[in-house]
Amino acid sequence: MSFKVLVCDSVAKKGVEYLKSKGIECVEANGKTEDEIVAMAGEFDAIIVRSATKITPKILSAGVPKLKVVGRAGVGYDNINVEAASENGVVVMNSPFGSTISVAELAIALAFAISRKIHLADAKMKKNVWDKKSFMGNEVNGKTVGIIGGGRIGVETGKRFKAFNTRVLCYDPYYVNKEDRRLMGFEFVDFDTLISQSDIISLHVPKTKETTNMINLEVIKKMKDKVILINCARGGIINEAELLEALNTMPDKFLGVGLDVFENEPPVKWDIVNHEKVCATPHVGASTKEAQQLVAVQICEQIVEALTKNNFVNAVNLDKIKK
Ligand code: NAD
Repeated sequence: MSFKVLVCDSVAKKGVEYLKSKGIECVEANGKTEDEIVAMAGEFDAIIVRSATKITPKILSAGVPKLKVVGRAGVGYDNINVEAASENGVVVMNSPFGSTISVAELAIALAFAISRKIHLADAKMKKNVWDKKSFMGNEVNGKTVGIIGGGRIGVETGKRFKAFNTRVLCYDPYYVNKEDRRLMGFEFVDFDTLISQSDIISLHVPKTKETTNMINLEVIKKMKDKVILINCARGGIINEAELLEALNTMPDKFLGVGLDVFENEPPVKWDIVNHEKVCATPHVGASTKEAQQLVAVQICEQIVEALTKNNFVNAVNLDKIKK
């Protein structure tokens, strides 16, 4: 049986090469509009996206009856309308493993950038200013790091922080195997203990009802002064308006805030990004060559499994498929 896959967004070449090596016809359609995808959706057994292309209800119903699966090269699948996919009998799957190390490394990079004010020092140097006195920094050594969310990325981030001689606290009420060898040296604590004892707090939870606005003004008030707060997870886990209020009214609260993700991407208001205590990146946690190759190959392998063997690895909506 022959299969045809539409590859939207710039999915790494290695993935597409893998599909072709399995005899699957691939159409690469980077940057197409919704209407353009709607016009062609009915020809494909599968669609692969990264984060740019939105898979809307219109696209999904246009894909019926041929379209079986939509694959997201990466973790977050907020750009795919999962409800509409389920209604149209389309399985949605992600490839959650490939970007773990890259995101962990970015969280650590942000913590170090803030500790040594690297972003601020570089901005001054680029104005030809040699301002040594403004850049007294802090060591990460010996500090307490609080990891919120002890999943794939949280664990890898904590492990790496441990190597810098830190005490690592972890809050994750759903982590069942606290004896896991990967977590050796982590202390599992409750949320309030983590918030009140950490010098560096790094968020690694999914965005859910429970985690939306998890970091708000009330929580920020309980943090230590000179805390570093990092969010490489999802926008909205920190309440941005309340974070901005804290940054503006509590000058001693933060050493700095590292943000890779935002409530709106790109931000509608840039006040947070422009705050001098904030070191910001444009949602690039998974944007490394290594991660992109891994997630692309992984999702393409899963697509082949799904089309040829009806085996839907990392499916997120199998229990909700309507037909
Ligand atoms: P994961 O599912 O492996 O881990 C998430 C952990 O959070 C789980 O252990 C879960 O038990 C825990 N958790 C869930 N709700 C919680 C709560 N209310 N309080 C505390 N812990 C809770 O996910 P992951 O692959 O480690 O991804 C973590 C986050 O990173 C996700 O938000 C993901 O979307 C994000 N991410 C960001 C980028 C980026 O480019 N910045 C790339 C990949 C993933």
